[in-house]
Amino acid sequence: MLRQFFSYYKPYKGLFILDFCCAIFAALLELIFPLAVNRVIDDLLPSGNWKWILYACLGLLGIYVISSFLHYVVTYWGHKLGINIETDMRKKLFDRVQKQSFRFFDNNKTGHLVSRMTNDLMDIGEIAHHGPEDLFIAVMTLAGALGIMLSINWQLAVMTFVIVPLMIYLSLYFSSKMSAAFKRMFSDIADYNARVENNVSGIRVVQAFSNENHEIARFAENNNRFRVTKLIAYRIMAWNSSISFILMKFISLFVLVCGTWFVIQGRMTNGEFIAFVMLSNVFLGPIKQINAVIEMYPKGIAGFKRYLELLETEPDVADSPDAKPVQHLRGDIAFHEVSFGYENKDKVLQDVNLSIRAGETVALVGPSGAGKTTLCSLLPRFYDTEAGRITIDGMDIRKMTLQSLRSHIGIVQQDVFLFDGSIRENIAYGKLGAADSEIMQAVRRAQLEDLVASLPEGLDTLIGERGVKLSGGQKQRLSIARMFLKNPPILILDEATSALDAETEAAIQQSLAELSEGRTTLVIAHRLATIKNADRIVVVADQGIAEQGMHEELLEARGLYSRLHRAQFGA
Ligand code: ADP
Ligand code: MG
Repeated sequence: MLRQFFSYYKPYKGLFILDFCCAIFAALLELIFPLAVNRVIDDLLPSGNWKWILYACLGLLGIYVISSFLHYVVTYWGHKLGINIETDMRKKLFDRVQKQSFRFFDNNKTGHLVSRMTNDLMDIGEIAHHGPEDLFIAVMTLAGALGIMLSINWQLAVMTFVIVPLMIYLSLYFSSKMSAAFKRMFSDIADYNARVENNVSGIRVVQAFSNENHEIARFAENNNRFRVTKLIAYRIMAWNSSISFILMKFISLFVLVCGTWFVIQGRMTNGEFIAFVMLSNVFLGPIKQINAVIEMYPKGIAGFKRYLELLETEPDVADSPDAKPVQHLRGDIAFHEVSFGYENKDKVLQDVNLSIRAGETVALVGPSGAGKTTLCSLLPRFYDTEAGRITIDGMDIRKMTLQSLRSHIGIVQQDVFLFDGSIRENIAYGKLGAADSEIMQAVRRAQLEDLVASLPEGLDTLIGERGVKLSGGQKQRLSIARMFLKNPPILILDEATSALDAETEAAIQQSLAELSEGRTTLVIAHRLATIKNADRIVVVADQGIAEQGMHEELLEARGLYSRLHRAQFGA
């Protein structure tokens, strides 16, 4: 895992080296002051030469000016390194999530995903900057301080060092406890985000059922769980910081007592004693720093682990190595012995055979839950077949790149998803970068002209999140305009008008008929009146195709279709 972590440094080698060098240099300069004080007290003070003391101080001032510049570099450029790495990680993760399959999104909550793409990576930037660098510098400074202390008075130095391993051991102990606590905390944040996301996007349903209090109670539960895990994590952190504090103070007092005794005994000069006290404080700094890294590490690593988990999830629908982009498709579709089922469920489709000629309009009918939508979602490879294969123009769809395959298929669904933005943006989603004239033509063909003309801001009118400011019929027209612009040879209309009132439906049927002209079209409809014009009717039931034929033929056959027909229109 560490190797993966360090691979993110690769593009920023220069920045890393610069930052690293400056930090080491700044740390070493810290060690000069105690040595200088030692010389001043033991050599310059007895000589009474005030001028030399002044020169020494001026020299030190020079060193501190350099040091302060180094601090700027380390803080700014170091964080720049961290931020860049964090940004790269976010980008990689977003790219990955964009390409995940439908199955992935079936099984992952939106709020969880959002949380993992935002929150979990928050601490990684800090770790990327502070982690390796601070650790190295702390160790360097520690070694430097210890070396000088040894050279001043080795007995006292050895007595002081005994405490160091103890402190590091304690830190490691607390770190492992904290790592677990933070992992739990991240998962609680994700739950919390998921709840908020779900609530806000469903707020209209909540209010319609007057279930606000129920929602408030559910939220309070999540919120409190989050509070408790957070408290646990911080309690461990507090123990850690309180115990390190007392140990450090213990060292200071220990050095004070023993040092005075050494001076009284005449085994140490005054200057050496003061330098020693100062150095014991310098070396406490790195220990604190190591402590801080050890504290930060579990949090960053918990996030990084979750990040890797998500990043390493291979999409289960992806381009095969020999996939080729297809430029042009006529639209001859064939299902050969296709079987498919969702996880942990019986097969939805079993050994389905179906061929559709280019330009043909085929209506899929059948009971709800029979698998009509599923059958259609296999065509653009939203899911892959378990057995059998699907061809378009005789070519297996798995031999085409996903992007080119999907560019030839248009889907109009019952619940239209529109993006927060303008009418223009939402229509142009069918063909990014489309010219205004093309968009206007699509608007005309989808009979949206009157609406656009009536709006003061026309095409630039904002439609609100998911298009809340439009009526159902208007939303559907917008999605049809989008399809005119996309202009695919294959079209799937999945209950496109089922949610609309009879009058709007009739009007939109007209646009849909125009849209499907010259395209291979699969129409799913439960209102049988809307599919009379289809070239063929296919009845989907019992994991496959129960019967197919023209309207009259099927009525005469007295099968499932005639029963469905009778149920809707009476005898
Ligand atoms: P239809 O469109 O004919 O009404 P569907 O194709 O939507 O039916 O659904 C067929 C069956 O598959 C149903 O039993 C449904 O519960 C199930 N199903 C649909 N989508 C999913 C999914 N994403 N995950 C699991 N099961 C699903
Ligand atoms: Mg359906």
